Amino acid sequence: MTAAEQHRQVVVIGGGQAGLAAGYYLRRAGLDFAILDANHAPGGAWQHYWDSLRLFSPAEYSSLPGRPMPHQRGATYPDARHVAAYLAAYEDRYQLPVHRPVHVTGVERTPDHLTVHTDTDADTWHAQAVVFATGSWRRPFVPAVPGREQFTGRQLHTTGYRTAADFAGQRVAVVGGGNSGAQIAADLTAVADTRWVTRRPPRFLPDSVDGRALFELATHQVRAHAAGETHTGVASLGDIVVTAPVRAARDHGLLTAHPMFDRLTATGPAWPDGTTWDCDTIIWCTGFRPDLAATRPLGLHRTNGRIPTDGTRTLEDPRIHLLGYGNWTGPASATLIGVGRTAAEQLRTLLG
Ligand code: FAD
Repeated sequence: MTAAEQHRQVVVIGGGQAGLAAGYYLRRAGLDFAILDANHAPGGAWQHYWDSLRLFSPAEYSSLPGRPMPHQRGATYPDARHVAAYLAAYEDRYQLPVHRPVHVTGVERTPDHLTVHTDTDADTWHAQAVVFATGSWRRPFVPAVPGREQFTGRQLHTTGYRTAADFAGQRVAVVGGGNSGAQIAADLTAVADTRWVTRRPPRFLPDSVDGRALFELATHQVRAHAAGETHTGVASLGDIVVTAPVRAARDHGLLTAHPMFDRLTATGPAWPDGTTWDCDTIIWCTGFRPDLAATRPLGLHRTNGRIPTDGTRTLEDPRIHLLGYGNWTGPASATLIGVGRTAAEQLRTLLG
């Protein structure tokens, strides 16, 4: 393919749910735009999640604007492949101009336009505004634990976990007290000698409560914060949604959390009281960071590691928006149901 100069009013970087929600509103407003996505296939991070993962919320509470997510036959809580298929159909339905695989290496600015550099197809894109919707899947976070390099077993992050069968018969430490840690630990208890390790005692939501409550809570928290109130709710977004496999493992006494170890030896975790546990594998379910590497050439300043925004718009340059990274870029914007509302608000500010 010959390298070309491409011009658009808006370039969206990332073709996961956030990029598609942005595209939906850009299409409705009749703007000339392109979505550049590094993945080879539609579905954003959903195409990479583990086999047993289920959505926190039923399909009807997991929809992007315009087109409800269909039910998955036989499942109240759809799996990740169902979500990836929904996102693929969504792109088609609204004929969103997604270019893939196109990896954006950096964005630069001049007073009149922004330049988006790619390495995958060597095209250069010029735009009046750029929306970063790159998610966090490609930036897994693992805490700095002393001795981590000395451990001779296998270490992987949530991003490397696919199915429990890969660990059959092993001794596996699962680190992390959030939803990923609970789900993967529950998954493994059936086939492996599993030890679940969490920094603080895990907090399960009541069994009857699912991701809908987290969405309401996130919305409430952000609104309360904007109004200068302190949020006093009991649950937090770190709380674990009790999916059916998590409930089964917990009710059988298999999902007991151990406190966090303070170092690793060649053979496994070691706790401050001298206890050790030899194991084959450590799975770090310790979260992610926003994947904003392509913002680097812009030289945007950061506060506490974050690029400051007003909603999605960066404070330093109103042409640059961040969408889908969590509450700081819009209430519940890192969820399927929440990103649409933020994308709609973003468009209003994009158009001035
Ligand atoms: P992604 O899905 O990661 O999409 C970003 C896209 O940008 C990717 O296709 C990537 O290739 C592309 N990209 C990145 N960098 C570049 C670049 N430099 N150039 C070009 N393209 C780039 N939310 C819910 O609502 N319900 C749930 O049940 C739920 N479960 C979750 C379970 C797990 C394990 C995780 C990690 C998250 C879950 N979430 C859930 C949260 C959220 O919905 C997902 O993380 C979702 O994938 C975020 O969508 P996104 O579009 O922001 O990012």
